[in-house]
Amino acid sequence: MGFLLPTFDEATERRFDVWRASRLNDALLAPVAIGGLAMFSFLAWDWLLDPTQFLACLLIRGTGTIIMMACAWKLLRTRATPLQLRWLGMLAVSAGTVSIALTQFLLQDGFLYGPAGLALFPTVSAVVVTRARQVPLLNLPGFAVVVALLLLKGVEGFALFNVIAFVGTGVFASGILALALERTARYGFQLELRLEEQAHIDPLTGIANRRRLEQEARDEVERARRFNRPLSLMIMDLDHFKGVNDRYGHPFGDKVLRTLADLGRANLRQTDLFARVGGEEFVVLMPETTAEAAAQLGERLRGLLAATPINDGEHVVTVTVSAGIAAHGPDAPTMEALMAMADKALYEAKAQGRDRVVIGPGGVG
Ligand code: GH3
Ligand code: MG
Ligand code: MG
Repeated sequence: MGFLLPTFDEATERRFDVWRASRLNDALLAPVAIGGLAMFSFLAWDWLLDPTQFLACLLIRGTGTIIMMACAWKLLRTRATPLQLRWLGMLAVSAGTVSIALTQFLLQDGFLYGPAGLALFPTVSAVVVTRARQVPLLNLPGFAVVVALLLLKGVEGFALFNVIAFVGTGVFASGILALALERTARYGFQLELRLEEQAHIDPLTGIANRRRLEQEARDEVERARRFNRPLSLMIMDLDHFKGVNDRYGHPFGDKVLRTLADLGRANLRQTDLFARVGGEEFVVLMPETTAEAAAQLGERLRGLLAATPINDGEHVVTVTVSAGIAAHGPDAPTMEALMAMADKALYEAKAQGRDRVVIGPGGVG
């Protein structure tokens, strides 16, 4: 369907389904309830056509409306999963179509006067599906009952063709409408994904920002605590960065920030989270990593930066970075405590002369 609709990777497709189902759940309540009532109100039409069948028609339409109301009630009370929504949609649409088909079956010349009524639910079924491709299947039970009742009643020739054409046109129109709706939904979802991503990325360096770090840190700290696993955090701060900016200009300073970000990106593990949390401060959150292992990594990054000349075409300069490390444990049980401890170690690194990595108190082991 890629040529008709923008598509996502498999995991994102599943997220899209849940996202759409959740929105449909709220949006469907009114249409399903109103559809049920509208269908019931056509009892007056039955009366006009054939008063002798009024009671039977009342029973049929009443049952259909109750089923549709039950679907609406279910949508109101619970948040349907994509699969539940598919069944609820099929039940509501089928209840409507089958009720109308049954009354027409009972009424004198019912199928002759009522093709528009039979096309009602197939035509609006587009609004109950999360994906356009569900439209044919959704209408299949109703369509099968209509055809069976037509044949049972012995309708043939033009009248038969007329009803089938009406219902078929309804399904077709729904398919087209559902494609347009799904396309709009997919663009909306895509936009939401992009916004979400942008809200968690530092625009200068392209790595995570403080918000993303804080979000992920909560889970990682909880995991380390619950399963008693190592977790380390390192704060890095460029040395004399104000001087670098003052001497070589702000754009050069930005280039330094991007260089450190690139070095981190290239040398960190997939599971490490690397974030720029302030002007020239970076944090690496390292699950399953002891303070010693974190220090080795910090040492490597420090050495790499010190050995990387930064060249803006005018100046060639090397800069250094200091780092403080804290390990999760009784002394640092929360993200705040980890940050405070790493900050203290960073301060120590600065005090000892910069261009070094220091492990905070309690971080040994
Ligand atoms: P220390 O070695 O003690 O860390 O000294 P420092 O000069 O690095 O420390 P200070 O905190 O005084 O200076 C940080 C500087 O970082 C100040 C500011 O000009 C610079 N800075 C902050 N954000 C940015 C940025 O986005 N781009 C650039 N180029 N510089 C930034
Ligand atoms: Mg600083
Ligand atoms: Mg600094």
